[in-house]
Amino acid sequence: MRYVYADNAATTPVSKKVVEAMLPYMTEHFGNPSSLYTIGQTAHAAVQTAREQVAAALGADAKEIFFTSGGSEADNWAIRGAAALGEKKGKKHLITTKFEHHAVLHTMAALEKQGFTVTYLDVYEDGLVRVEDVEKAITDETCLVTIMYANNEIGTVQPIAEIGKVCRDKGVLFHTDAVQAVGHIKIDVKEQNIDMLSLSGHKFHAVKGTGALYCKKGIRLPNLIEGGAQESGRRAGTENVPGIVGLGVAITDMCENLDENMAKVKALRDRLFEGASKISHSRINGSTEKRLPGNFSMCFEGIEGESLLLMLDMNGISASSGSACTSGSLDPSHVLLSIGLKHEVAHGSLRLSLSENNTVEDVDYILEVLPKIVDRLRSMSPLWDHIMENEKQ
Ligand SMILES: *Cc1c(COP(=O)(O)O)cnc(C)c1O
Repeated sequence: MRYVYADNAATTPVSKKVVEAMLPYMTEHFGNPSSLYTIGQTAHAAVQTAREQVAAALGADAKEIFFTSGGSEADNWAIRGAAALGEKKGKKHLITTKFEHHAVLHTMAALEKQGFTVTYLDVYEDGLVRVEDVEKAITDETCLVTIMYANNEIGTVQPIAEIGKVCRDKGVLFHTDAVQAVGHIKIDVKEQNIDMLSLSGHKFHAVKGTGALYCKKGIRLPNLIEGGAQESGRRAGTENVPGIVGLGVAITDMCENLDENMAKVKALRDRLFEGASKISHSRINGSTEKRLPGNFSMCFEGIEGESLLLMLDMNGISASSGSACTSGSLDPSHVLLSIGLKHEVAHGSLRLSLSENNTVEDVDYILEVLPKIVDRLRSMSPLWDHIMENEKQ
């Protein structure tokens, strides 16, 4: 049986190039970057190189990059930090959207318990936030706007530069969770008026537990971890040197091959959309244009996404119903509900996220297997019978 990995939005395999770059920092260059002798300084220089690589990928300055343990940590730091800065000035209002990652939504919920007010902006049927809505929601009390760059379930890409401009004009900090976007589409924090940005290594072929926060010069975000002088004293603790080296290599590799990868992955994804759209009672979730090249998200009426995933897995295909974090719970995804899908439709969701490692053969295999599974599940589904009966009337 063929094996097809189509869940790159959940995580990616570490590339050979990244593994090879990391290995020496676990063996001969194992030194502590804070040590003054040679092997310590070799490690220190490697961390610095990675910082420059991450900065170059974002159009930032190396001094604006702070390494973290991943996307969730970077999100927490940016949001809690901006809230603390706001509170000092008596500004206790934050703005976000209804379809953020839980790293953002749960941080917001924690802040609400501490007396902050949060506006959760609507997302429209196309999976996009409206710039006018952001503008209208900003008040004199607002200390932060945080809106994800690209959604992890439906892949829609937000008008980041325009939102950034509105925030800058109004003097409000703007953070974006760009975990799904970095390495997959072009980003420039200066051109796009971004004050803070979160990224995560394992979403682009570096290792899990690595990530970074870009924080624009001049923003005095409170320290995240007190201790040594690492990360300019703002996030103490001996650096994850191999992980950071891998992050730098991975982001550089992705950026060097960006145009080529985007074209390849988009062609594969469009082939998937075309084939899967032939299945009756199906719909594509969100805009097909303003979308990550590798993201496929559809709903098939009359079936349960979880059963679909299990059957795909039995056929050697790794996929997702939405975000990995909500899998295992029976509630339909908050993202699909936010774009106006009914519960029963949202239940039949499927996300396939492709990478440049996928092939036309992978896609054709999925398109061979998927319609059969959907038919099979519908033939056993009382919900499907109900839909069919309603149509006859
Ligand atoms: C994966 C993901 C995160 C979390 O990143 P970790 O490195 O796993 O903590 C945050 N936001 C989005 C949009 C993600 O896709």
